[in-house]
Amino acid sequence: MGPIRNIRDVAEKHLCTGCGVCAYLEPDGIRMVDDLGQGRRPMVDEGAGAGEALEACPGKAMELPPFDPAKGHLKELWQGWGPILELWEGYATDDEIRLAGSSGGAATALSLFALEQGRSTGVLHTGARRDVPYLNETVRSQSREDLMVNTGSRYAPASPCDGLQQIEDGDGKSVFVGKPCDAAALNKAEGLRPGLSKNVDVSIAIFCAGAPSTEGTIEMAKQLGVPQREGIESVRYRGNGWPGMAVVKGEGADGQPTGGELTYADSWGRILQRFRPWRCYSCADHTGEAADISVGDPWYRDIPEGEPGRSLILVRTERGREFLKAAMESGALTLEKAAPHLLPDSQMNLLHTRGAVWGRNWACRLLGVAAPKYTRMGTGKTWLQDLSFKQRAQAFYGTFKRVFTKKLYKRRPVVPFDAKANRVGDQD
Ligand SMILES: Cc1cc2nc3c(=O)[nH]c(=O)nc-3n(C[C@H](O)[C@H](O)[C@H](O)COP(=O)(O)OP(=O)(O)OC[C@H]3O[C@@H](n4cnc5c(N)ncnc54)[C@H](O)[C@@H]3O)c2cc1C
Ligand code: SF4
Ligand code: SF4
Repeated sequence: MGPIRNIRDVAEKHLCTGCGVCAYLEPDGIRMVDDLGQGRRPMVDEGAGAGEALEACPGKAMELPPFDPAKGHLKELWQGWGPILELWEGYATDDEIRLAGSSGGAATALSLFALEQGRSTGVLHTGARRDVPYLNETVRSQSREDLMVNTGSRYAPASPCDGLQQIEDGDGKSVFVGKPCDAAALNKAEGLRPGLSKNVDVSIAIFCAGAPSTEGTIEMAKQLGVPQREGIESVRYRGNGWPGMAVVKGEGADGQPTGGELTYADSWGRILQRFRPWRCYSCADHTGEAADISVGDPWYRDIPEGEPGRSLILVRTERGREFLKAAMESGALTLEKAAPHLLPDSQMNLLHTRGAVWGRNWACRLLGVAAPKYTRMGTGKTWLQDLSFKQRAQAFYGTFKRVFTKKLYKRRPVVPFDAKANRVGDQD
């Protein structure tokens, strides 16, 4: 497939995670659009996307620094999970946030803490588009009301880094919330833009096993009685309980109000995960290794009926340590220290994916298909130490099959969707 020379190559050769940082760094030549079958993707003008945008792109390459014992990271977790200084488990002390949040509302509680203490004047994150509720947009929330509207993980494409200019131009610092690939993009962009870096209060990553394309949401709505995408009035994927129900409301085939709900096992397990783009299968970082703080589900035990939610929180940097300590002292979160083994106990599937990625990416390269470059991310050792022979064989041969069924050997041009005109093939 040849080398990756620019952002168009990244997008067309199945490497794009949809973070949006390229559009922030090169707004004159790159614009993010919705591609219903893939995700948020960059439209690139001729000659654009070969400089800083490519340098910051997490789709093409990601890396970790060498392990340095002096920095205090937990050695036993480094290979599989990246830099971790502390682990905590708990929930937002505010009952409304705890219930509304996807897990224990940690991302929202930390964001609100920063606003209420005056540390930050905004939170750059993701919410449903008001005009097209089955799509997402990047928002900078500035109040409790704004944050509450945008609680809950949206298992659909989002590109929060396309709004980084709002952090750079902000009238104070901002909190950033995104997926691991978004946090990695922010981290690289901070290295390129000191004006951005000085305005980041803290970066928070939510764990992510893969972001399904918009077609996943449309399929889920169909199964809940809303046959046309333009009939979808609201979509919630999780939260309001733990893990909470996926809820779709809209218009039925007869024009009458309809909708329904699905358990998380059904919405994610049976529908949404089938729509993850290939880049998510070749993703090594599902827990936000470049973020200051990462949050996910402590799935290590059975969840009793009616449980309002709990979060597993990883502190990864000194900036994150200071922020979380201040948040705990303010009473925003109720937390207790968690033992390191609770991370693999909670998210073993993500560790296995990290190992499988090594085999998947080598299978791709053998067939001439582009693969992300990971430096010091421990995928090879995880492949050898944490995967059974059967899992290794599946990763390798499964990829050979997918290269052909998903046509990964071919370039796939970005197909923009004009939501207002409800038309595929144009820009919104
Ligand atoms: C695509 C996807 C895959 C996930 N996979 C896993 C997994 O494998 N393991 C696991 O433990 N948890 C997974 N989650 C859930 C999420 O990581 C946890 O629920 C996390 O603990 C956040 O919960 P919270 O209560 O702290 O968040 P909340 O307080 O509810 O806040 C959620 C925050 O995430 C932001 N957000 C929502 N959707 C997106 C998006 N698509 N992209 C970027 N930001 C978004 C919101 O704007 C909000 O700031 C996934 C979520 C998504 C969106
Ligand atoms: S991964 Fe991010 S930076 Fe790279 S092409 Fe996609 S949107 Fe642009
Ligand atoms: S699986 Fe990885 S690449 Fe895909 S959305 Fe999640 S963090 Fe990004």
